[in-house]
Order: sequence, then structure tokens, then C-alpha cells
Amino acid sequence: TDFKGLGLSEWLCGVCKSLGMNHPTDVQRGCIPAILKGRDVIGLAQTGSGKTAAFALPILQALAKDPYGVFALVLTPTRELAVQISEQFRALGAGMRLKELVIIGGVDMQAQARELAKRPHVVVATPGRLAGLLDADGGLAAGMGRCRFLVLDEADRVLDSTFEDDLRRILLALPAERQTLLFSATMTKSLIALQRQSLADAHVFQA
Ligand code: AMP
Repeated sequence: TDFKGLGLSEWLCGVCKSLGMNHPTDVQRGCIPAILKGRDVIGLAQTGSGKTAAFALPILQALAKDPYGVFALVLTPTRELAVQISEQFRALGAGMRLKELVIIGGVDMQAQARELAKRPHVVVATPGRLAGLLDADGGLAAGMGRCRFLVLDEADRVLDSTFEDDLRRILLALPAERQTLLFSATMTKSLIALQRQSLADAHVFQA
């Protein structure tokens, strides 16, 4: 199957081709059709497998259809990963007026709060800084109610106890009605617990 066979629009298939992505990787084949159908997905895949595009492409397709209604939040454990994910969104979304924002520690918080208030389409964040911003500003927390996609990248690490409290506060601000996409290198105990608790119907991809 090519990208078109997975259900991606002609336009996004063209973007993939222009970036040298000629054939979908296993994780892309295993996850994109289910995400496009609106399902929650648990993808077990390593970095380098093409997992970022596996969630970015269907989110961009939803955004192209509804630029005002779609808002995606990607949580990832490190600043470096946040920047890398945002760069992939930018490359794949170059043809549309994609507004994306990175929320990480070590950057001026006031400036981030102002940018977040402008309602970007995609926010890529580390949990600590985002939770801090939501705590400080009820308006920003209310804005999270528009979230259509929640992505946990390196979910095993995001679910780690260091982020437990931040994650809990972020999840409180998100609507229950949303699509959750979870990517992890391995199926850990905390992931199995989360799957049982709230992602029982998720489509699971394992290489
Ligand atoms: P990731 O696993 O998301 O960290 O992606 C690893 C790298 O693979 C990134 O630099 C992507 O641009 C690249 N990539 C993703 N999907 C494909 C594909 N279908 N064909 C070729 N390269 C890809």
C-alpha cells in the first residue's frame, strides 16, 4: 500500500513524496487508517520508525478539513523531542497555514502564554511547562477544552511518575470527547493500566 491506500488525501500524499517519503513505514501502515477512522490508537514503535508522521499526517488531514475546529496537543518527555516533533509538523504542514507552538521549559513563560492564547492548531509540549501555564491562567486551561487529539509520544516516559502530577492536571483540562493516540517503544505496566482504564477500545499496533 502507498499513502493514498491508507486514506490520505492527494495533497498530503504529494507532501510525503516531496519530502522523500515514498512508501509508508510499518507503523504508518498500522496506525494511519485507524486514526483517520476516528479510533484511539496505541502504537508500539521505536524512534526512527516514522511514528511522528504516523500521527502527524492524519491530524493534518483533519485540520485541512476543519482548520477552525481542530486542535491537537502532543505531550512528549523532553524539550529536544518537542522541537523535533514540531519540526516534522511544520515540514508536513508547509502547504497549509499551520499554526504550531512548542511549550517547553527554559523559554519565557509570558511569551508562551500569549502564543497559547492565540489558539494554535498544534501544541507540542513537555508536561511540566504546560501544566504550569494552565495553573497560572484559567483562560488557557479553558482553551484546552477544544482539544480534538491528544498524543502521548514516548508514552512510557510521559506516564512515568515524574510527570504524574503534571499529566493529571493537563488531563483535567481536556474534554473526554477526543481521540487519544499513544506511542511507546514498549508496553509498560503503566501503559497496560491506562489501556484497561480508558483505552479499552483502542486499535493496537505492534511491529
Ligand atoms: P520518527 O520515528 O518519527 O522519529 O521518524 C524518523 C525519520 O524518518 C524522520 O526524519 C522522518 O522524516 C522519516 N520518515 C518518516 N516516515 C518516512 C517514510 N515513510 N519514508 C521515509 N522517511 C520517513
